[in-house]
Amino acid sequence: MNSPIAIDRNEILKRYKTIDKYTHKGIQGHALIIGGSYGKVGAVSLSAKAALRTGCGLTTVFVPQCGYEILQISVPEVMVVTDDHEKYISEIALNLDVDAIGIGPGMGQKMATQKALHDFLSNNSLPLVIDADALNILSHNPSWIALLPPKTILTPHYKELERLIGKWHSDEDKLGKTIVFSLVNQVVVVMKGAPTYIVDGQTIYVNTTGNAALATAGSGDVLTGMITSLLAQSYKTIDAAILGVYLHGLTADIALPETGYQSFIASDIIANIGKAYL
Ligand code: AMP
Ligand code: MG
Repeated sequence: MNSPIAIDRNEILKRYKTIDKYTHKGIQGHALIIGGSYGKVGAVSLSAKAALRTGCGLTTVFVPQCGYEILQISVPEVMVVTDDHEKYISEIALNLDVDAIGIGPGMGQKMATQKALHDFLSNNSLPLVIDADALNILSHNPSWIALLPPKTILTPHYKELERLIGKWHSDEDKLGKTIVFSLVNQVVVVMKGAPTYIVDGQTIYVNTTGNAALATAGSGDVLTGMITSLLAQSYKTIDAAILGVYLHGLTADIALPETGYQSFIASDIIANIGKAYL
């Protein structure tokens, strides 16, 4: 197994793209976040806000109808498209000109939502970030993983990872199984945790930012929005994963003196993305 490459400031500066003085929101990338269900629409709100704060020019969300007002009020910068169903996603019928899609936060796993995910994956060729319930649905239906476009980014925490690759008996075994999974399925896996590893086939990266303050509700939903935003801005897949994970962690390092570990919440990640970028 190759030893991991540390994701430090040098690795970031190699990849980071500055914003052109004459840029326009229409060419700055359009991110789409799909997710939400009754009582879990906040996950999409966090994800969409994080996408905007990470630099894409436009962000659209696709949510069940119960998410319409919540999103319009909580993130007025976002465009909202709704499913026909009131409480959960039942059919992802979209005709949108977007550049990258993040799917899963707060989505639930109703049978209709599972079918909607299957039909969506069968017709999609855009760069994708798969998170949360979308990962869980794939774990129940492993044959659907073949529907993912090459280099799709999967962002499991350790429980979601276990559902995807099975149990491991050591950290090395976990990494080994994830490498095989990444190679077989041609996907990039962000193994969220402390530390977070990013596995792209045989190449392994380990993040150097972040702290235990990130162990809080919504933290992963924010990361999904950030990585989707970077993909939408035409970052290469692996660069979007690396930059997203690094900046996400750095926000917690920046905020720590002010919030401490206990009072840090996912919205503090979003509030500090700007400082992390500096
Ligand atoms: P999720 O469980 O999907 O909300 O994702 C949690 C996010 O917080 C991931 O990006 C994790 O890497 C990060 N995280 C959780 N716990 C820790 C920790 N103890 N130290 C550093 N990062 C953490
Ligand atoms: Mg999560």
